[in-house]
Amino acid sequence: MNKSQELFEKAKKIIPGGVNSPVRAFRSVGGTPFFTKKALGAKLTTADETELIDYVCTWGPAIHGHDHPQIREAISKALHHGTSFGTPGPDEVEMAELLVDLVPSVEKVRMCNSGTEATMSCIRLARGFTGRSKIIKFAGCYHGHVDSLLVKAGSGALTFGNPDSAGIPESFARETIVLPYNDLSVVKSALSQNDNQVAAIIVEPYPANCGFILPKDGYLEGLRKICSENKVILIFDEVMTGFRISLGGVQQRTGITPDLTAMGKIIGGGLPVGAFGGKSDIMDYLAPLGPVYQAGTLSGNPLAMAAGIASLKLLKESTPYDFLDELGKQFSTGVKNIADQYSIPLQVPQVGSMFSLFFSEKPVHNLEDALASNADQFKHIFQICLKNGVYLPPSAYETCFISTAHEKKDITNSLEKLEKAFSAI
Ligand SMILES: *Cc1c(COP(=O)(O)O)cnc(C)c1O
Repeated sequence: MNKSQELFEKAKKIIPGGVNSPVRAFRSVGGTPFFTKKALGAKLTTADETELIDYVCTWGPAIHGHDHPQIREAISKALHHGTSFGTPGPDEVEMAELLVDLVPSVEKVRMCNSGTEATMSCIRLARGFTGRSKIIKFAGCYHGHVDSLLVKAGSGALTFGNPDSAGIPESFARETIVLPYNDLSVVKSALSQNDNQVAAIIVEPYPANCGFILPKDGYLEGLRKICSENKVILIFDEVMTGFRISLGGVQQRTGITPDLTAMGKIIGGGLPVGAFGGKSDIMDYLAPLGPVYQAGTLSGNPLAMAAGIASLKLLKESTPYDFLDELGKQFSTGVKNIADQYSIPLQVPQVGSMFSLFFSEKPVHNLEDALASNADQFKHIFQICLKNGVYLPPSAYETCFISTAHEKKDITNSLEKLEKAFSAI
């Protein structure tokens, strides 16, 4: 047994499944997970001293790579002033100014501690504001482990084949209408069947938790129009895409503005953070101004704010998006060429530093298409890559990420390993 296996055996005795978040357990790719001892730049070092090129980037947040010196410095500076105040602090104002400045639809913003809290609060706020109770979500979209959103959810919930979690009362789930992504006609008919009852439509504008899926032309515009016509709150869950697809997320790239936006991941610079924001009249429904309650002992935590501000400032100063897209294209076209060479059907949707590998003949437009792809082939490729120092996400239904710490030669090196893997399918 190596060190990782020993740690996993120990962990399983005292932590359910040995992990603190289910996808980390490698259930869908088989084998035991490696334990990470150190993360630096584009690489992870395992407990057994193996170096891996990392395409998971802590599931999105590490857009600057691991342990970026400017973020580390910001955290260590903040450490000297105390780790939690329980009163408002100056960094919270700076963070709010940055978010309002960068995200087109956000006029006011509140900090919380995770993406899950952000989407949960958006839903409550939309219900409080509209006085309606139903919500619409899309199959395969993952919005954290919020009760009413864990219905036909993506990410870990999908990987384990039980999209509907136990412990969620049927009466809660009944308030959630689940529709296929990329089809406007089903949204229209759901709204007419539930006239004046739907508070919000929540969507990952570019779904990234059942692989990476892009909207068809006009789809997001259509959702915006339908929401406006029916006085339904449009919520963009940009926890994954925010500050990654562009500084202002998908809403900046597409010019489509939601009413509320959930944020997280990158805005914490590697520390636990979430945020949600939107139009002032809706946000002012929150306590202490309005009747919708939402709170957090550690919300706006000074260490998390320092890390997040440093992360956002780095993005503003260096505008790395063209470089990230170059690397993304190098990877996606490279792997597509390899697949063609071995006549293995492969789809590689990619925007900037996000992409995924679907072993499928046809383009993937929704969850059903994603599930029809060949997950066994992914599993096979994953294992060979891992043995050769390349860490892809441990599930066929997750998105790959690149950071600014990745170099062209890392991608070239990874493609060589992928070629080896494809030749062995
Ligand atoms: C990761 C993620 C969440 C949940 O964020 P946590 O910080 O894990 O609670 C919500 N929505 C999307 C789109 C995500 O990718």
